[in-house]
Amino acid sequence: PATSLQDIVGHAKEYGFVFPSSEIYDGLQAVYDYGQNGVELKNNLKAAWWKAMTQLHDNIVGIDAAIFMHPLTWKASGHVDGFNDPMIDNKDSKKRYRADQLLEGKAEQYEAEGQSEKAKALLAEMGRLLSAEDLAGVRELIISENIKCPVSGTTNWTEVRQFNLMFSTQVGSVAEDSSLIYLRPETAQGIFVNFLNVQKSGRMKIPFGIAQIGKAFRNEIVARQFTFRMREFEQMEMQFFIRPGTEMEWYEKWKEARMKFHKAVGLPAEKLKFHDHEKLAHYANAAVDIEYEFPFGFREIEGIHSRTDFDLRNHQELSKKKQQYFDSDLDENGKPYGNYIPYVVETSVGADRLFLAAFCNAYTVETVGEGDSLKERTYLKLHPALAPFKVAVLPLVKKDGLAEKAQAIANSLKSSFRTTYDDGAAIGKRYTRQDLIGTPFCIAVDYQTMEDETVTIRHRDTMEQERVAISELKEKIGYQVAI
Ligand code: ATP
Repeated sequence: PATSLQDIVGHAKEYGFVFPSSEIYDGLQAVYDYGQNGVELKNNLKAAWWKAMTQLHDNIVGIDAAIFMHPLTWKASGHVDGFNDPMIDNKDSKKRYRADQLLEGKAEQYEAEGQSEKAKALLAEMGRLLSAEDLAGVRELIISENIKCPVSGTTNWTEVRQFNLMFSTQVGSVAEDSSLIYLRPETAQGIFVNFLNVQKSGRMKIPFGIAQIGKAFRNEIVARQFTFRMREFEQMEMQFFIRPGTEMEWYEKWKEARMKFHKAVGLPAEKLKFHDHEKLAHYANAAVDIEYEFPFGFREIEGIHSRTDFDLRNHQELSKKKQQYFDSDLDENGKPYGNYIPYVVETSVGADRLFLAAFCNAYTVETVGEGDSLKERTYLKLHPALAPFKVAVLPLVKKDGLAEKAQAIANSLKSSFRTTYDDGAAIGKRYTRQDLIGTPFCIAVDYQTMEDETVTIRHRDTMEQERVAISELKEKIGYQVAI
């Protein structure tokens, strides 16, 4: 049977990956906590991204900027005036929806019914109305498409209103305008305002990039689908600063590079695709999403945007500080390119969405055995580099020195790989426990180990076992757990 989101949510909670926030108080909508295994998987994804960006590129460096920023930052970025979602309420159920999501849902329905042209036309019309900020038109479209509230079943809709997604709070004790501060809705601006600091202190030459991983906050109108749409989430963003006129070339390069990354962390090609935007964000002149096929359909996990000089130019205007770069390279006439505000191509991926994609992709239920011994086997087929534990060391029995031997092996592996030791139940049960959290290698210590210093390695996906010398373990496991 196909995996449902409920299976995923259930497994994530039961095995220590994701818990609802403040659960003892019945939770907080669209906020989640990562558990003991979830934090490892998420950290491994972040480490893979950080390595792909900073270690594998000589011209990309990282920063870690604060969540709080000067309020003018968000004026310059366009978020104060333009970071809105169109919302609509159903008068009967009093439920609030995102108008664009209602229309996208209808388009998906057309698509499912084989009416692809109709779906495309609807999305195009929606894009046109939203770009023109024709909110009355958006409402008319919802009504003419006969879109019903999923709760009340009626078409009794209010006006469409714009709703700003930024959270604000007060800094200091005086509640006046100047102390109003926002929780950053994206990490990108921390990079833009530090562009010259990094460029100068690192003597960076264009083209170069700045990468950052950090929390972002959005007051999403409809928060659902688990860690796909949260109000507090984590972004992994990289702004690549380039010479104006070269943006399409870099846009194409980063599109390919980012698609490659998702495949390298184990997402299969057939579950990934590019999706061009129907409506460009206020800052972009070209934009594409990388989508992954979740149990609820193809959805965005990463955005790649050509942002031109929109952000740096606006920061220059509001801060009155020049945001220029002097390019000493020579143009075709042999003259230096000179001073300019760089263009930017950005790659922006949500750590939580990537986590959910990796988790959904790994969740596997298989039927194993034959005849009367047919049974279901559930395991997480995670890329070994992402697994919370790489190795579990399991003594066949506790007595006759096997437990001590297994502990000694676990201790010798610990500093190289995250290793766990378990002697708590029948060996089959212990294998199952590791399968459920995605441990790729289980090492069993048996009586033969005591005689010849060999152990068995059991491979998670095939359940096959091989006999290996203890002295070879590090090397054997090491090359399989790297990306
Ligand atoms: P959507 O259209 O789904 O709201 P977006 O286009 O607004 O997403 P961007 O502003 O491009 O998203 O943000 C870049 C990335 O940040 C997204 O690809 C996504 O992975 C992640 N992201 C954005 N909003 C959320 C959220 N509410 N919860 C989790 N991740 C998010």
